[in-house]
Amino acid sequence: MLKLTLIVWLLFSLAWRTTPSSCRQTRSPQTIRQLLATQLQSYMDTTVRPCENFYQYACGNWQLQQEQPAQHREREKEREREQEQLLPSDTLGVLDLNLNRQLEMALRRSNESTTEEEPPIYDKLRLYYRSCKRLKPYNLKKYLQLLSPGNGTHWPLLSRSWRREKFHWLTTIGRLRLHGLNGVLLKEQVLPRWDDSSVYSIYLDKPSLVETLPMGEGAMIELLLDIGQTKRVANALAREVDDFERRLHRLQELEDDEGAKEMQLGYLAEYLPELKWLPFMREIRVDTEPDVRSTLIIQNIPYMRALHELVERQQPYTICNYIMLKFLAYLKQQGPAEISRGECVASMRRAMPLASSWMIGQRLYDPEAEQDVGSLFKQLKQRFAHILEDNRLQLAPPIVHVLQEKLRAMRLQLGFVQMNDSGYVEDYYQQVELNGHNFYANQLKLLRLRVERNHELLLSSTATDLGNVSYLTESWLASSSSPLYVKPRNLVLMPYGLLQLPVWHRNTSSLQTHAVLGFALAHELIHGYDASGIDYDGLGNIMGPSEEIAGNQRFIQGLRCMQQQLATGSRSLNEKLADYEALRLVYETFFGLKPKPREPRDPLLAQFSQRQLFFISFGQFFCGKMPALSLQAHSHLEHAVDELRVMQTLANFEDFSREFGCEKRTKMQAKQRCRVW
Ligand SMILES: [Zn+2]
Repeated sequence: MLKLTLIVWLLFSLAWRTTPSSCRQTRSPQTIRQLLATQLQSYMDTTVRPCENFYQYACGNWQLQQEQPAQHREREKEREREQEQLLPSDTLGVLDLNLNRQLEMALRRSNESTTEEEPPIYDKLRLYYRSCKRLKPYNLKKYLQLLSPGNGTHWPLLSRSWRREKFHWLTTIGRLRLHGLNGVLLKEQVLPRWDDSSVYSIYLDKPSLVETLPMGEGAMIELLLDIGQTKRVANALAREVDDFERRLHRLQELEDDEGAKEMQLGYLAEYLPELKWLPFMREIRVDTEPDVRSTLIIQNIPYMRALHELVERQQPYTICNYIMLKFLAYLKQQGPAEISRGECVASMRRAMPLASSWMIGQRLYDPEAEQDVGSLFKQLKQRFAHILEDNRLQLAPPIVHVLQEKLRAMRLQLGFVQMNDSGYVEDYYQQVELNGHNFYANQLKLLRLRVERNHELLLSSTATDLGNVSYLTESWLASSSSPLYVKPRNLVLMPYGLLQLPVWHRNTSSLQTHAVLGFALAHELIHGYDASGIDYDGLGNIMGPSEEIAGNQRFIQGLRCMQQQLATGSRSLNEKLADYEALRLVYETFFGLKPKPREPRDPLLAQFSQRQLFFISFGQFFCGKMPALSLQAHSHLEHAVDELRVMQTLANFEDFSREFGCEKRTKMQAKQRCRVW
């Protein structure tokens, strides 16, 4: 048994490592399909009945398979423990881990040992990576030594030259904003304009609900001990800051009865004089004097007023420490989770998302993949066009026309940067100088670069195709292989990292490609038509026919039906909507609408019908161990715990129950099936 698992594991690791361009020796389609068939069966726990718990049935042995390598390789105990902790918790995690290993190999090779010419950006990537690996130990205090709160004062905990009268919280926020911090006390972003997405505007807003969730005394104490405070000081301080954080969180309840307003900076300074907007903007745009005639869009003005009052009632010492703690938490999240090679690559991908995307593209991009993914996307669009044409919602013809136009205009983009845009990538990083021995300074420089580059977008009068999604570099998603729909661009973005198994390989079956990649693309496509996607038109402007659709009784009913399933599942209605509609869309795209009398079975997995295999492959993409949600998993919070996600999505789909012969009242048959489009 043990031997068998070992062989099986070797096969898997081969399968995982077979990427189209890193090793050009092409495996025959048969080999890949055999490997995948073995893998598919090894993840399954067939002692569970599919109609009772399909996730367990499809994924029951997934974790076991992931743990094999750590168990069987002879390594010292510490290394094993380390591996266990870093063991990815889901398929995307496995995919990114595998990718990080490949990048690490490429970075470790010294420049001299490669015969092929490397692009100059590799030097910078390598400097960041090396400076990270040399860290011993990771010391958060160094950041604070490099960056003071500004205005001639220092951090109260670290220096005797703290001057409370010199501390201006908004100036400090501006200064740290320039170094990437955002969503602390307020939020400042450069985003495509709502009414003309080809140009950008500054948006000022309150932080989101998640961003003001109190971090808790425990987390604060940990950070304070990290920067060398005594337990006594840390405890007392954490209590004070915790109290402030809770009051701050309560401000989220304030209604925005004034709504969003666009105004000139000079006028804002007069309209909300309590807050010192000019010094704030001066910190963010260090090299240009802020233009008082430039406009920005501000929301949640009542919150801003209440914030001012709340902050005024506190000791400057507490506010300054609160800001410092939030900054440390942010940097810690951007840095390596621990000093290991893989984590340094992960941190590099966060710090230099565009350069990393380009580097990943260099390794994984394949014209054949682009063609495959493109044609799959086209098929999904065609099928969805039919669904819109059928007009289940009975919308007025002009509305359907607008929706069809949006679908026609929707584009797919592989990677954050295009492979022929190396000049753009080089230019983007041109001014930044990194040092192989100073990780902290490198990281601050790169974080600052992103904010500076984003603000430079304000100056360009027309958006070019180059870097049309570069404004997303501050988002966590820019550094992972998770696909996304970019509403203001009407664009489905598929990172190069997804061009690996189990998502894509030139030799996988069409069924597997549809069930995994097809579902991912369909899910993102549907986000263009979810409850907030309908606000956007085909150009990405917030001028979509949302009122007409949101007022439609059938649309409301569909949403309500999904809402009822939220209590136990996803946190977000739009995620549920995208899952439900995407499964139907990709299934109908692959199998067509009419059941074929006899579909041939896959000879490698003859025990399942084609349709059963489709559902198993779909389910297995979400296999994972039960989540230990870290701070870094922010972006995934919106998705339900994967188990529920798979179960609810399948239970909602009538063809699933039919295919597995699930009787009414089994767990895998929803009492009520929801549909919107
Ligand atoms: Zn989604």
